[in-house]
Amino acid sequence: REKKYDYLIVGAGLFGSVFAHEMTKLGKKCFVIDKRSHLGGNVYCENNEGINVHKYGAHIFHTNDKKIWDYVNQFATFNNYINSPLSLSKGKLYNLPFNMNTFYQLWGTKTPEEAKAVIDAQIEKYGVKSPKNLEEQALSLIGKDIYETLIKEYTEKQWGKKASELPAFIIKRLPVRYTYNNNYFNDVYQGIPIGGYNTIINGLLEGIETKTNVDFFSERESLSSIADKIVYTGKIDEFFDYKYGALEYRSLRFENQWHEMQNYQGNAVVNYNDSEYKFTRIIEHKHFEFGTQKNTIITKEYPENWDKSKEAYYPINNDVNQQKFKQYKEDALALKNVIFGGRLAEYRYYDMHQIIASSLKKVEEMHKKNLTI
Ligand code: UDP
Repeated sequence: REKKYDYLIVGAGLFGSVFAHEMTKLGKKCFVIDKRSHLGGNVYCENNEGINVHKYGAHIFHTNDKKIWDYVNQFATFNNYINSPLSLSKGKLYNLPFNMNTFYQLWGTKTPEEAKAVIDAQIEKYGVKSPKNLEEQALSLIGKDIYETLIKEYTEKQWGKKASELPAFIIKRLPVRYTYNNNYFNDVYQGIPIGGYNTIINGLLEGIETKTNVDFFSERESLSSIADKIVYTGKIDEFFDYKYGALEYRSLRFENQWHEMQNYQGNAVVNYNDSEYKFTRIIEHKHFEFGTQKNTIITKEYPENWDKSKEAYYPINNDVNQQKFKQYKEDALALKNVIFGGRLAEYRYYDMHQIIASSLKKVEEMHKKNLTI
């Protein structure tokens, strides 16, 4: 090592924390900074009256990959929470994801054959062979009734764009199932870490030098000179001073309410499909951990346009933005001493398990390179 640290890690979210943990194990000296007043990025929870409040939006861990599951289980034990959100549409509640319960609630169909007949007829009528946007994708996957009852308005307020202007892949995240199964995910492993996500972050960063309230961009030169390499997990366009133009993101505003009652909505997640509600969902945090506290805390989640004063939550991966991102990525690849990783630096709609996998892969790549030098 020529400098004080092998790695300066900008951003203490999952990508950065996993990277720091693994590199430290390999004998590298890491320094993790974050502009916020705490570590953990968006998985950070704030404990309030014994309830872990998912401060930057609900996080439910799920993966099909045993390696990733074992990895997180080193740091926390997971409970058996299964995400089964409901969606309120025009005064009625429906089960999600789209499954036999939903179909029964919509059409009264009782068997898979009956439900399939309704859906297939609608797909036949409104679907297209190769869907080019979210609307076409939804109509081809699940038909008009579900699209209009549970998808269109939710999607358009979530993204602030017409469903016909959004990429198709977004809706493919949701399962369609001909069983009475309200599990939102198809993955083999799922749960919420007992003690909250901070337990995992603390485990990952134990014994590693960290500093919060540090804005990389306000001390860019001096910070860049203290380590051989930089791991950057912030917005890739900001790193390059928006030289190809700003990438688009969707932001969120969280409105937290404390209620003097034990149980506000009976479920951790209730989506609000209709556009008359400006929020997309209400999260009741205690239900992620089967909490029995006397009171409850709920969060209404309002999607918002992003600007430089706000947090960037979702990349908007449409063609225009992907083209811009490609230019940034080329520049990023040319920088040999900077590694770009995570949702914002890779401009990808990553889930937690995917970020961990991507970070572990990066460490492995770097490690192999070091060995061959
Ligand atoms: N979606 C929808 N209706 C719902 C829930 C989700 O149409 O009740 C669509 C919407 O387009 C959303 C996408 O499915 O952006 C992915 O939803 P998911 O719950 O995976 O999003 P996240 O929890 O990451 O915000």
